[in-house]
Amino acid sequence: MADVPQDILSEIANLERLFTVDTAKLKEVTEQFIVELKEGLEGKGNIPMNPSWVMNFPDGEETGRFLALDMGGTNLRVCEITLVDEKGEFDIIQSKYRMPEELKKGNAEELWDYIADCIEQFIDSHHEEEKDSLEVLPMGFTFSYPATQTYIDHGVLQRWTKGWAVDGVEGEDVVPQLEAALRERNLPVTVAALVNDTTGTLIASGYTDPAMRIGCIFGTGLNGAYLETCGNIPKLAHMNLPPDMHMCINCEYGAFNSKGNHPVLPKTTYDVMIDEQSPRPGQQAYEKMLAGLYLGEVFRLTVVDLHDNKNILFPNQNIDAFRTPFCLDASFLSFIEEDPFENLSETQDMFLDKMKIHANKPELELCRRLAELIALRAARLSACGIAAICKMKGFDSCHVGADGSVFNKYPHFKQRNAQALREILDWPKGKKDPVVVSSSEDGSGVGAALIAALTVKRIKEGVT
Ligand code: BGC
Ligand code: MG
Repeated sequence: MADVPQDILSEIANLERLFTVDTAKLKEVTEQFIVELKEGLEGKGNIPMNPSWVMNFPDGEETGRFLALDMGGTNLRVCEITLVDEKGEFDIIQSKYRMPEELKKGNAEELWDYIADCIEQFIDSHHEEEKDSLEVLPMGFTFSYPATQTYIDHGVLQRWTKGWAVDGVEGEDVVPQLEAALRERNLPVTVAALVNDTTGTLIASGYTDPAMRIGCIFGTGLNGAYLETCGNIPKLAHMNLPPDMHMCINCEYGAFNSKGNHPVLPKTTYDVMIDEQSPRPGQQAYEKMLAGLYLGEVFRLTVVDLHDNKNILFPNQNIDAFRTPFCLDASFLSFIEEDPFENLSETQDMFLDKMKIHANKPELELCRRLAELIALRAARLSACGIAAICKMKGFDSCHVGADGSVFNKYPHFKQRNAQALREILDWPKGKKDPVVVSSSEDGSGVGAALIAALTVKRIKEGVT
């Protein structure tokens, strides 16, 4: 970077100070994380630690035909999964629908109508001849938002996350809302289980891997789930469940450190702005620093600041293309990080094409470093949630199943995340990692169907 002018160099150094999370900080965050996970099990503090009423892994003997509905932050997917007689095997057919942006801020009726229409389309296109004679299909509904569950087939939405703000759902049970829309269309479908995507990921991954202990998502949002024993869940004590019975806990750890007396998250002014301008300020503090939905936004706010207030980037150019909130997504950053050319010529072309900006070499250098810093911070800090569960549970070695667009697609995310885990857990260099995070089976599809199957089996056996 010999030809980079001094003001850009010192700004890069400044950004490095702002966004770098060193080992000591990772450890400090992890320690506070353990405190808040335990508080959540007592029904206190930031992290909901929601019991999911999924009590065990499937044994591979489940059979039958199930639907899975995956209502994610970005897409809606309907799957039909047939668990066949061969142990652990299944067939899957699926269709994807885009979740229209305006639905995310609309009202409950429009939301459930849209979803029921998609399910109807799916059934029409795959079961044309047999529609009237179709037996009722049990459905696993992957609802990737925090829900309070007292039964597996019910769930009251605690609050929307990931920028959603649909009226008339918070504080309500989402299952009867969806079922009403299904009934209006006479669809032969019942909701057998309401499933978080993390729970689905854990169960789907555990189906084929006995060392699986944690399921997590690094996508539009972020979160993790693991199996707890009921004796360690003080907030369920009044139910007198057997202390050694398992219960899958959907942590909802995106809410870590949102409030309270021990703020440990190294927030920048950009993170504070994101929170303040979000539909739900003061919530999901950890998620808002790290998850895919916000990575492009941190980049955007930084660029605007460096232009407007510091006159460092693109002086005398019109940067209006950078002024729309959330106009950049994580793929904008990964594009820059993956530019194969030393002179960043692909990035330069992209800035001109998409943002109408002529970026010079030093400006491009700064942007690349910024993209790298933001994504590195996300990969490192998001190791803390996993490390905290491992430390709290005393898992010396285990497998973690992960899903989500950031985990699966963002360049270097996996390596950066693994490196941070090593630092937090003090692994000697060169030794095989005892906690390994790897891409999981499709938890929101297969996982949800398996949980529906487990539920149907439990009902048949008369256990509730
Ligand atoms: C939601 C979680 C979900 C995660 C990943 C968060 O915003 O609250 O329920 O598991 O995103 O999709
Ligand atoms: Mg998803």
